[in-house]
Amino acid sequence: MKRVLITGITGQDGAYLAKFLHNKGYKVFGTYRRLSTPNFWRLHYLQIFDKVELIPGDIVDSSSVAQALEKSNPDEIYHLAAQSFVDVSFNQPLYTGDMTGFGCVRILEQLNKFNKKIKFYQASSSEMFGVEKTPLKNEKTPFHPVSPYGVAKVYAFWMVNMYRKIYGIHASNGILFNHESPIRGLEFVTRHVSNGVAKISLGLSNELYLGNLDAKRDWGYAPEFVEGMWMMLQQKNPDDYVLATNESHSVRELVQEACKIAGISTSKIKQAKQKLRPYDVPDLKGDYSKAEKKLKWSPKTKFKKLIKLMVEEDIKRWERWLKGEQFPWDAATSGEDSKVIIKKTKK
Ligand code: NAP
Ligand code: GDP
Repeated sequence: MKRVLITGITGQDGAYLAKFLHNKGYKVFGTYRRLSTPNFWRLHYLQIFDKVELIPGDIVDSSSVAQALEKSNPDEIYHLAAQSFVDVSFNQPLYTGDMTGFGCVRILEQLNKFNKKIKFYQASSSEMFGVEKTPLKNEKTPFHPVSPYGVAKVYAFWMVNMYRKIYGIHASNGILFNHESPIRGLEFVTRHVSNGVAKISLGLSNELYLGNLDAKRDWGYAPEFVEGMWMMLQQKNPDDYVLATNESHSVRELVQEACKIAGISTSKIKQAKQKLRPYDVPDLKGDYSKAEKKLKWSPKTKFKKLIKLMVEEDIKRWERWLKGEQFPWDAATSGEDSKVIIKKTKK
């Protein structure tokens, strides 16, 4: 039985990947960091919590990385743990550099000492392209990052290339464009919108505030992207691959589509200046033809289908919550939504 270690198993991609690899017959290990309130809701939501082995570990702490390697003794490592939110990286540039950049190298260093044969996946990002002007970005497009997050990911990207060339490690970069799902973090724009319009449609909120409506992103569906990660590590040779949908849509289009599905007016959606970023990437669209040719990977779920499944799932969850049901879910206990709970219980 193949063994796998996933860092960041409690996040969106980690949870989907754990389920995918468990179903493939892998023995799945995952690291999680100590938090005052454990964050296992996604693993419960996907009904995978009792099927994985959890190892305490923080990617800022090399000794915990070494212990995770010893305990899991993996054939493959998927390094997904990171400070993953671009917006926060402007306020926490050093922390982001440490977690999102150096974190990757801490794992590579331990891997190099422990067992050079372990295959390694690095969660690289389209944010590395930043303001580079090429309209359709592929593996050969130069990087021009404009956020601490993007810069940290570029550092990790080149270190992966270096460990591949110098130490002969099977280390690959997946340059993934934005990928979303009903278990995406609430701070990211797709889920912020799907959750927001769901609440408005049920009378639980009056409005939703957003930042830059003109920004365009290439939004795909996370469960399909984690399959692509696995395909990369099944190749004879390590390499770098773009996973994307080859379409980009604006935040404004996202709002229009989500409001249509929820049956609410777009006038409920407002712009808040404080939500604008100091520097925002205007447009990201990815060319996945290399992945299609070499991995036989292609995206199935595109923009409209993705927004529909996210909005419908969030409406369903708030309806269940209104009936008093308890289930694994983030929104009702998040800062913003706890105000809704107070409003509701006061009635
Ligand atoms: P996510 O939902 O934010 O998950 C991030 C994971 O990292 C969580 O499990 C988090 O743990 C963990 N983590 C954070 N700090 C940690 C620390 N100090 N030690 C150990 N674990 C830590 O992100 P995602 O969407 O699944 O993305 C996975 C990876 O792909 C990230 O590296 C992200 O930057 C990259 N990526 C994502 C996208 C996308 O569109 N989703 C696109 C390109 C690249 P907690 O649960 O404790 O917070
Ligand atoms: P990113 O591409 O990794 O930064 O993913 P996000 O989902 O955080 O942001 C995607 C785009 O949506 C960026 O251009 C943001 O500036 C824009 N955006 C507009 N309003 C919001 C908002 O309220 N929250 C977030 N997260 N992004 C927003």
